[in-house]
Amino acid sequence: MEKLVSLAKRRGFVFQSSEIYGGLGSVWDYGPLGVELKKNIKERWWRSMVHEREDIEGLDAAILMHPKVWEASGHIAGFTDPLVDCKHCKNRFRADDPRIKGTPGQPDAQCPACGTKGTLTAPRQFNLMFKTFMGPVEEDAAVIYLRPETAQGIYVNYLNVLQSSRQKIPFGIAQIGKAFRNEITPGNFIFRTREFEQMEMQFFVKPGSEKEWFERWRAERMQWVEGLGVRTEKLRWHQHGKDELAHYAADAYDIQYEFPFGWQEFEGIHNRTDFDLKNHQQHSGKKLDYLDAATNERFIPYVVETSAGADRTALVVLCDAYREEAVKGEEGEGNEQQRVVLKLKPSLAPLKAAVFPLVNKDGMPDVARRIYDDLRRRFNVFYDDGGSIGRRYRRQDEAGTPFGITIDGQTTQDQTVTVRDRDTLKQVRVASSALIEYLAEKLAT
Ligand code: ATP
Repeated sequence: MEKLVSLAKRRGFVFQSSEIYGGLGSVWDYGPLGVELKKNIKERWWRSMVHEREDIEGLDAAILMHPKVWEASGHIAGFTDPLVDCKHCKNRFRADDPRIKGTPGQPDAQCPACGTKGTLTAPRQFNLMFKTFMGPVEEDAAVIYLRPETAQGIYVNYLNVLQSSRQKIPFGIAQIGKAFRNEITPGNFIFRTREFEQMEMQFFVKPGSEKEWFERWRAERMQWVEGLGVRTEKLRWHQHGKDELAHYAADAYDIQYEFPFGWQEFEGIHNRTDFDLKNHQQHSGKKLDYLDAATNERFIPYVVETSAGADRTALVVLCDAYREEAVKGEEGEGNEQQRVVLKLKPSLAPLKAAVFPLVNKDGMPDVARRIYDDLRRRFNVFYDDGGSIGRRYRRQDEAGTPFGITIDGQTTQDQTVTVRDRDTLKQVRVASSALIEYLAEKLAT
């Protein structure tokens, strides 16, 4: 994991927030390559969820919402973690922290930080929502929250979308947006952060059909995840036990990935029943039921939710792509070389190709520049004329760039270039006029 974090910084994927001030705990910034990777993941999700389906509409709701939303959703009362404090060293821990020995609140409990016995308080509930004030006066009446999930923005707009889009049940609403949680034990790089992005879809169905839709969405989502190019043996399902289920869920399955720190969730499929819409109807006083024109029945729809973290999915993709390998020396190198390579699926890679003039003379830079200018109208490509060609390949391997295009002596004679494949290291000669087509085909999936 440390190696991945260091590569992410070195190559401009992810930086610590406010690093020059010593960093802000568990908040991360995406650099030039990271922002492209995350954007490619989000666009892939949006395409498959919204554009390729007739039965899902898109939405972009605001982060700030009426505070009553969080009463209705149960987040004010129930979005909590039990915490214990050490009266001696003032550190705070989750009550289920495996490092705590004994029972918090009892004389036998030992603080994991300072080691003192009997100083841990009994668990108290701590709300994970970030609070702030709206308007100029900092008083209780002005308290609002940064949303801890994007889902509620969808529920409160359910009627608006239904009426304006002329959808009929079953249909869904999809949204990508920021969420905030004042996590007590954040960490593992971008796995658990206090500010993150979710890709959520709420699918509204007729009561009684939710189990069938739940299974359909489980299959759909696993297929999408596999389409990211992640090794299937690193993926598995985890069904929530009764004690794990969130306050709104009747059934829940996580898609887990085997991270370097163990199997962990990065997407959840939840049967939220009519919990949210029923509560919003009650708290807002606004009717949220649905009239089925075919049967004349009225009902509050059930909801099947698919909820993925964009950052966690990016971490899955990065962890899965990271490899250290011994390779036969390439141009200008000795026999065997160690390389670090990100074997990202080409369509997810931040840079699709890098263009290299073999040497900075004999007209090669001019041709290389022309090819680069041509390509970048279609793809995100990079120009590099610094250092040996072997070193330039290695830099692009670390960035996960799938194709290296080298302009050499032969190019100036027959207008062909070499295209090096990041994974197989094979080189083929391609007519420079056919490059766009060549890349488009390789990037199609
Ligand atoms: P966890 O138990 O790991 O905190 P959760 O079960 O609370 O997650 P959900 O509320 O189901 O997570 O959120 C759906 C998705 O949002 C998660 O699968 C994850 O990808 C993402 N997510 C949730 N919390 C965070 C966080 N603090 N940092 C990054 N991503 C998160």
